[in-house]
Amino acid sequence: MQSVTLNNGVEMPILGFGVYQISAEDTERAVSEALAAGYRLLDTAAAYGNEEAVGRAIRSSNIDRNDLFVTTKLWVQDAPAEDNTKRAFETSLDKLGLDYLDLYLMHQPFGDVYGQWRAMEAFNREGTARAIGVANFYPDRLLDLIVNNDITPAVNQIETHPFFQRADYQDLMSEHGVQTQSWGGFAEGKNDLFSNALLAGIGKEYGKSVAQVVLRWLNQRGVIAIPKSVRAERMAENIDVFDFQLTDEQMARIGTLDTGVSLFFDHHDPEIVAWLAERRLDD
Ligand code: NAP
Repeated sequence: MQSVTLNNGVEMPILGFGVYQISAEDTERAVSEALAAGYRLLDTAAAYGNEEAVGRAIRSSNIDRNDLFVTTKLWVQDAPAEDNTKRAFETSLDKLGLDYLDLYLMHQPFGDVYGQWRAMEAFNREGTARAIGVANFYPDRLLDLIVNNDITPAVNQIETHPFFQRADYQDLMSEHGVQTQSWGGFAEGKNDLFSNALLAGIGKEYGKSVAQVVLRWLNQRGVIAIPKSVRAERMAENIDVFDFQLTDEQMARIGTLDTGVSLFFDHHDPEIVAWLAERRLDD
């Protein structure tokens, strides 16, 4: 598996397995199958409600902990957030059955962002989070966090797929040493992604599926992807993307699919801000 080197020297696989919207009952089986298929990067979150099941699958796999890269995410915390964040972090570690994380992400740019980040910096300094980063941060919020704190996020996990490509933002993040990670790499199938004629046509030239073309396109852009599937055959398909190379012309043609607009939610929309910011995991 190819890896990328994060801004603090930590190596992170360029392709992994996401478990959003996999029920707690299904997650242990799905993660076990993903590990058997060769995935070593696992992406969960406190908000997904399946950290315990991810932990069970990790333990039953008997894979050396050093060979895994486990990410989980902190949900929004109220001010003063330092103590809440420490509690949330320890709860996630307990549920996962781990004594350190490879990457801990702030899930949303809301709540007491500064307090949350200061606590995360402490986990990183003490080594219980080998890398720390953020998710869903738009450029203004990311730059604010970078210029006013000590540790620059290693990763920003953002909606990135053929219909919302974020190329300019990726350039800005690269300038600041922040690695782009895609969530919703398949746009969760929206806009009929899996039957898109342009992507299917390119795939046909290599005997590859639309899903494989999308993942290869992300990979060639240097974007980390974490496709989700509950089906073993798709897990195998989604990791089989390193034996072909898209041409510059094909990369440029995929570029024409960009609409520049989110297919999910705009973190600047006041209604979305209120909806996300008011949610608490204990509610
Ligand atoms: P996604 O990976 O874009 O799409 C998942 C959908 O694609 C599922 O319906 C899956 O169906 C289908 N699928 C997977 N492989 C396929 C294939 N080869 N052919 C056809 N269909 C296929 O969606 P996502 O789960 O939203 O995003 C990926 C991960 O990103 C998440 O699991 C999560 O870890 C992370 N994420 C993070 C955030 C955030 O706020 N930070 C938000 C969303 C997601 P089946 O399962 O039935 O195969």
